[in-house]
This record gives sequence, C-alpha cells and structure tokens, in this order.
Amino acid sequence: MRTYLARVSLVCFLHPKHSSFYNSCAKVSLTTFKNVLDVELARPRSSARLEYWTLKACFLQRRKFPWKSKKLDLYQDSIGEIQVSRVQIPSGPFTMIKVKKTKIADKVYLLDFKNQHDISSTFIRFQEYYESPKFKGKIFALKEYKKWYKSINGRFTYYQDWHGFNIPSYVLVPFYKGKFNPLSKKEKVLLNLFREEKHPFYIIGVHSGDKDREDTLKHEIAHSLFYTNPKYKKDVKKILNEYNLDELEKQLLLTGGYNKSTIKDELHTYSMERQNKYDHLIPTTLYKRLNKLFNKYYSS
Ligand SMILES: [Zn+2]
Repeated sequence: MRTYLARVSLVCFLHPKHSSFYNSCAKVSLTTFKNVLDVELARPRSSARLEYWTLKACFLQRRKFPWKSKKLDLYQDSIGEIQVSRVQIPSGPFTMIKVKKTKIADKVYLLDFKNQHDISSTFIRFQEYYESPKFKGKIFALKEYKKWYKSINGRFTYYQDWHGFNIPSYVLVPFYKGKFNPLSKKEKVLLNLFREEKHPFYIIGVHSGDKDREDTLKHEIAHSLFYTNPKYKKDVKKILNEYNLDELEKQLLLTGGYNKSTIKDELHTYSMERQNKYDHLIPTTLYKRLNKLFNKYYSS
C-alpha cells in the first residue's frame, strides 16, 4: 500500500472523534525530529482536524517512523485546525505556543516567545528548579510553587513579574526523567525543543511583548556567558569584588526570585543595566566596566 507522510507540530494530535481523518491514517507514529510529529496517512488529505490532546497519545506510543514515501506538511490555520498541504513551510514547526529557537553562540540557545504569559508559564518550573531560594534542586508541583510565591508577594504575580529566563541544560534532566510529572503542555514543548541536543548547553528566553526586550536579552546573554565561559566569569568576579554590593544583593534576594548560590551572577547582570529600580545601588564605574567587558566577549 502506498503511504504518505504528514508533518505536524508536536503539540497537536489527532482526535479519534474526527474519524474521517483518524481512519485514514494507516498508522499514527512519530519521531522526535526537531519537535515535529510525523503521521502516516493511507492517502493524502486536503484537510484534517487536529486537536491538542491527540499528540499526547501519539507521543506515548513513541513508535519509530520509517522514512519513506511522499511527505506532506500540515500547517495550522487556526487553533485546533490543521490543513494538509503539499507546500513546504520553511518557517519550521508550529506549536501551541509560538516559540522560536535560535542558536546565538556556542552552546547557547535563545527562545523567543510571543508574550510574557507564554514565556513565564513555560519556564516557571525550570527556572525555579534552577534559581528559587525555596525550590532550587527540588521536585515540586506548580500548585506548591504558586502557594509559596503568594506567601512572599501577597499575590501570585509571577506571570507579570518576570520577562527574561535563563537555565543551564542540567535543569532539564529531571524533567526528561519524569520526576516532574505530570508535565504541562508548555513544559513538553520546551523539552521537545532540546530532546536531541547534546549536553551541556544553556537556554535563555525573552519575549516580544517586553518593552525593554533588548536590555532583557543582554541580561540573559550575560548569564549564558557567565555560565559557559570561565574566563568571562573570572573577569566579572574580579570586577564585582572591588565593589560593595550588599544592598543590591539584599534587594534581589527579597524578590523571592533568586537563590544565594546564583546571586553573584545576578549582581553582575543587574549591574550591567540602567533604568531599573536598583540604579541607585549600582556604581556608574561598575556599570561601565561590566558593559565593556561584555562587549569584549560578545559581539552580536
Ligand atoms: Zn537574571
């Protein structure tokens, strides 16, 4: 029997209710080929309805897909609606949340999100496993985290408070191992983006709705340099040691967003910024020297 391949994003999956499409599949299978799902069809289809939960079922099967026959691309024309097209879409796979992955330096990946809610709700458990004063290195449910954040800040405002994110790749490991199950759909999207990547690497994230996007990006790139480039880290630490930053450190720790173990890194990135609420705590010479150093190590 002749078969056809259709390529869909990993966050979509087939709904058995839409039997016309479902029955047309000789086999539903997938391979983790850059976060896309490959579906084998008995015949080419002009359109098909796909819904998010379907993917989960396919994904659980984890069946290897034999690469053969014609390739069709499925693309999303609206949420939950996928059309089959013979047109190759070069812009990459579509996901429930729109996120673009770019390699910006050796071992450093930038994730670009559309808005603040998408990025913060995707990164929350990854970021806090890495950096939270309370949850660093621990396995926790989102509900637990929300409760704790509320106790610190009065309300759960996490999705409005944070714009930029940064994690080293080891953070993903317990998530891949199932320690954080059940995973949210958004967490799965992020994990799928890096499933094939060789460790170690570093992930940073920014979003288009951030009015200070460029500053945030620089802040996050600086984190990635600090982590991946020992020479840069050494130079930064040397400069930081010449200044008394106790008050800045105290203020940053009060936000509930940072752990003592990574505070030097944050002191460095915050001191590179201007026009943030900590300006009065950052000596101008420190700001200038760190920016000069950053420019020496990173040219965009
Ligand atoms: Zn930071």
